[in-house]
Amino acid sequence: MKTIGLLGGMSWESSIEYYRLINETVKKQLGGLHSAKCIMYSVDFEEIERYQHQGDWENATKIMVHAAQSLERGGAEFVAICTNTMHKMADEVQQVIDIPILHIVDATVKKIKLKELQTVGLLGTRFTMEEDFYVGRLRAHRLNVLIPSPEERQIVHRVIYQELVLGKILQPSRKAYLDIIENLRAGGAVAIILGCTEIGLLIKPEDTSLPVFDTTLNHALAAVDFALGNTSIQDYLP
Ligand code: GLU
Repeated sequence: MKTIGLLGGMSWESSIEYYRLINETVKKQLGGLHSAKCIMYSVDFEEIERYQHQGDWENATKIMVHAAQSLERGGAEFVAICTNTMHKMADEVQQVIDIPILHIVDATVKKIKLKELQTVGLLGTRFTMEEDFYVGRLRAHRLNVLIPSPEERQIVHRVIYQELVLGKILQPSRKAYLDIIENLRAGGAVAIILGCTEIGLLIKPEDTSLPVFDTTLNHALAAVDFALGNTSIQDYLP
């Protein structure tokens, strides 16, 4: 079993989910007392959030690089960055470590492709919904990507930073998200990507009749598959 390097704390509310899902899945697959070999580097999210909203990606990248190098030095055999947004600098981080990064988009798309779905609606932070590092990667996998309107994107972004990363799961926000998902469906989406690692705490598959792809769940499952040697990095790439 490979040792998983979890680059987390963005936020810790979702990193807990990674840890739980990964261990539950290893236990299910291997039985007995088996659990995952993993190391987590958990950052101070206050610092990250400040850099993000100041547009200071250089300093945010420095933190990510330091964390990834620490994981490598600590014995991790690959890295899972436990946030969609901070895949913005995944390429730069990959350049300074010798172990692979298992990309959250690739892990999620692998499951979408199994269902042969083509047009997906994307929910996430403003950075994730609007920037090429994320939408471009989905398109490289030949998916059509629909994003919410500018006003809706503001709501989705605000709920993430003012509620979900603080552990606040509120019914009015769930309703707002479901309305936005409904609009994406009306626009042609046949599935929804929960492209922020906390959205799965708010929206459950049973809340909507569209298939929902939770990036936290799919990334965690892919990390286990890769750790157990069932897949290779090439199996995920666009
Ligand atoms: N966890 C979130 C994501 O998946 C947002 C927090 C962050 O900015 O890293 O994008």
